[in-house]
Amino acid sequence: MLKQRLALLALPFLVAAAPHDAEKLRDAALKDTVAWDIVEDLTTEIGPRLAGTEAEARARAWAVARLKAMGFANVRVEEFDMPVWVRGEERAEVLGGNPQPLALTALGNSGATPPQGVEAEVIAFDSVAELTAASAERLRGKIVFVTHRMNKAQDGSSYGYFGPVRRLAPSIASQKGAAAIVIRSLGTDNHRFPHTGNQSWSDGAQPIPAAALSNPDADQLERLIKRGKPVRLRLVLTPRQVGIGKSGNVIAEVPGTDPRAGIVLVGGHLDSWDLGTGAIDDGAGVAITAAAAKRIMDAGRPKRTIRLVWFGAEEVGVRGGEAYRSRHSGEPHALASESDFGADRIWRVDFALPPAAKAVADRIEAALAPLGIARSSVQARGGPDVGALVASGVPAVTLQQDGTDYFDLHHTHDDTLDKIDPRKLAQNVAAWTAMLAVVANAPEPLVGGAAQSLPK
Ligand code: ZN
Ligand code: ZN
Repeated sequence: MLKQRLALLALPFLVAAAPHDAEKLRDAALKDTVAWDIVEDLTTEIGPRLAGTEAEARARAWAVARLKAMGFANVRVEEFDMPVWVRGEERAEVLGGNPQPLALTALGNSGATPPQGVEAEVIAFDSVAELTAASAERLRGKIVFVTHRMNKAQDGSSYGYFGPVRRLAPSIASQKGAAAIVIRSLGTDNHRFPHTGNQSWSDGAQPIPAAALSNPDADQLERLIKRGKPVRLRLVLTPRQVGIGKSGNVIAEVPGTDPRAGIVLVGGHLDSWDLGTGAIDDGAGVAITAAAAKRIMDAGRPKRTIRLVWFGAEEVGVRGGEAYRSRHSGEPHALASESDFGADRIWRVDFALPPAAKAVADRIEAALAPLGIARSSVQARGGPDVGALVASGVPAVTLQQDGTDYFDLHHTHDDTLDKIDPRKLAQNVAAWTAMLAVVANAPEPLVGGAAQSLPK
């Protein structure tokens, strides 16, 4: 009798361990349509989801209903407050002998022009370094134009190198007394879509109008300047700070059988910029990670709890990631990993695991190889919303998507559902499912111990 009862008690654990065959789950996920359905519904029914706005709140309500319907446990929203900036009118025109409009869009936290706009002469710089070296005298009252062009890179590294054009140049221009600043978009396309993105004013820098020109418009402005006569622009930009609003992280779980084994944190960000419908940034990421977590859930209870987080307000300063970290960093995390680099195929896997978990990396590498994914020696950083946790020692696996074309669409009106290839999306789900199947059930300890890249 006792023997029978012990056998019954043991049964769920036996059942739990067996069904998470990474290869089988991976191959089934190559036919996934769950992720496509999520990103189609989100981008169609909600559309743009600017942080702190009513649209982002609608996305959270949508997300809670969706994640409950999918069968996840402990579905909830963790709200936080944040300052909210909204876009206004945005127009630019060349004045004088070659009058014509230019396509531009305000950067996050841009100051506003008066309703009738601001008119001034343009002063151009090839780089942030050149702008930094310029005297305030030359900039005073002018419209600064920084025209450093970003190039394509499979790993997206250009975004890091060229990022200061958007993040730093507006503050530098303001501190030197410029009337406004326009930058060449941080984008790799040649379409007339300007790329928005966040920037924040450094200490002592008063907000000035700050906008990005599309690449063809930046080319046009360069050609006009090369003709040797002063070029004057009129800018009309009327964004506003509307005070403190609410954002929030949407959380859902697949409860594990062993609470001491730590939490496997995965997700993407639910907010988007307001221009497109946030399909590749980051509807794809929330969809991929939810579809993969559901596949593990449907196959049986994993050893570790999988916690899915759809972060709020990533675009405007990683506020959801920070809110999560301040609330949950004391909990044992076995892994943290975010999908936030579009919907193209995963081609590379990076690790940051404790040395005692080297076999986990080897098993993940083996499970991903048939998907055309290779192991790097780069240390995983986990993704923007989990980066601070990972930097503090939480293990990470980063499934790197091919970023060659990501910055053609990133933060533009052109970030829409039609840009997602359902087969590539399913390859992502397959990779995430295989990775989760290994990590969520690994017998090796993952919590604690300095995480390292563990090259072969
Ligand atoms: Zn993103
Ligand atoms: Zn983004």
